Amino acid sequence: MNALPGQPHIHWRDGELHVEQVPVTQLAREHGTPLFVYSKASMLAALAAYRRGLEGRRARICYAMKANSSLGVLQVFAQAGCGFDIVSGGELARALAVGAKPHDIIFSGVGKTRAEMAQALQVGIGCFNVESEAELEVLDQVAGQQGRVAPVSIRVNPNVDAKTHPYISTGLKGNKFGIAHERTLHAYKRAASLKHLRVVGIDCHIGSQITDSGPYLDAMDRILDLVATIEAEGIRLQHIDFGGGLGIDYRGDRPPAADALWTELLRKLDARGFGDREILLEPGRSLVGNAGLCVSEVLYLKPGEQKNFCIVDAAMNDLPRPAMYEAWHGIEAAKPRSDAQPTTYDVVGPVCESGDWLGRERSLAVQPGDFIAVLSTGAYCMSMASNYNTRTRAAEVLVDGGRTHVIRERERVEDLLRNERLVD
Ligand SMILES: *Cc1c(COP(=O)(O)O)cnc(C)c1O
Repeated sequence: MNALPGQPHIHWRDGELHVEQVPVTQLAREHGTPLFVYSKASMLAALAAYRRGLEGRRARICYAMKANSSLGVLQVFAQAGCGFDIVSGGELARALAVGAKPHDIIFSGVGKTRAEMAQALQVGIGCFNVESEAELEVLDQVAGQQGRVAPVSIRVNPNVDAKTHPYISTGLKGNKFGIAHERTLHAYKRAASLKHLRVVGIDCHIGSQITDSGPYLDAMDRILDLVATIEAEGIRLQHIDFGGGLGIDYRGDRPPAADALWTELLRKLDARGFGDREILLEPGRSLVGNAGLCVSEVLYLKPGEQKNFCIVDAAMNDLPRPAMYEAWHGIEAAKPRSDAQPTTYDVVGPVCESGDWLGRERSLAVQPGDFIAVLSTGAYCMSMASNYNTRTRAAEVLVDGGRTHVIRERERVEDLLRNERLVD
């Protein structure tokens, strides 16, 4: 078996791409395209790496579901004992729908509404990660109206450079996220003085697709400095939440493995005397990104003077990352032809935008009617998919060994029109 880099459960067998034991072309024929395919074993292996790194510690892994919030994916993590990091009332409903324990749900985000706060208080979530001083005041009011006490952690902006794409870097001063390092003590004192808040922790999240342990080590140092300062004021922090952000291998990226990273980080935590604290993590991409691929059918080959285009039936509405971040995804023929010469193509979708490309200058041996797989599309693809051009969203299947579960039916045009009204 010949596994793809970073994706041990997606591999070549008999000249065909397989997800676990199932050939990708078979899935495409049975379920249609575009189709997202996820490997359950791959998700569980990614989770196991974190668990190995945290072995023997009090720790909660709260999957940041914005990476991929499909219920079938959430179910895998809920059954494996994960909590969830949510950023909206909608995501709270998803967590509850898969049976998450409210205590293991934490609520992040800079713009929580009063209604979302009330909903989360009612079900008794584990922690609000508060991102501004104004939010502390509002949360105190909302909790007071319900006669409840809200558990809070303050998200600190440690002002470290995660050295990632500007749109996914969140821990620098110019970002909208978190409370500035210098304001943190002030915010904690205020939180501790409010009657309907109970301080339980501190958190940070410095960015996404981080491929080096350096920014994590820097952020940890800064957070621990703050923990010491805050506790010197008599405010006890039960947990320290280091957020998510660990990168995956898209194109020869070499992020540290989760277990190696955490072994290194825990060494620092111990050395600084904070090894007894409960640790929270909010990984998203690193749990699901390499577990998924998107299968698409080749519609047309369009040779040109300057470029050849391979036009496929998946587009930027299904796979927004190239258009949004100029992201690179591997693209493979699901069953490369021995009878066609590999040709260099720009792989594009049918959407009427020049930004609608999936990969540039890719060598593929394909003909119309063949299937291609866009790799490492388990994170920030389906969860960001749109209906632009009135395209229905793709179906999703979860492969578990030799079995395939449909976890999302293909959307129908009727679904799209349902909430719209003609003017009368
Ligand atoms: C997006 C996000 C995460 C997850 O980030 P990944 O890079 O997908 O691991 C975790 N915490 C917060 C607050 C986030 O906004």
